[in-house]
Amino acid sequence: MNADQVAAAEAREALRLALISLADRDGKTPCAHDDRFTAEALEVLQSAAQECSRCPIQAECGEAGAGETWGVWAGRVVGGRQKTGRKGKTA
Ligand code: SF4
Repeated sequence: MNADQVAAAEAREALRLALISLADRDGKTPCAHDDRFTAEALEVLQSAAQECSRCPIQAECGEAGAGETWGVWAGRVVGGRQKTGRKGKTA
């Protein structure tokens, strides 16, 4: 495991511990049970990301999500697909 991998593993562990600590205090993150945070559509991800500003573990999430390729991480949108126009059926 190289230094970057070690740092990523430590960040994920810190996030896991922060989530446990939050749950012990009967708290939860805005993204809990909210599929918008892992949606396909870019505009849905962007909408969800606005909720992160009120998250108590935003710092840990941001560190853990540094190398991720999809979803919302501490208000940062990664990935997401732009909607393309759909043509109606022709008879
Ligand atoms: S900061 Fe991270 S853990 Fe908090 S709501 Fe946003 S995506 Fe979820």
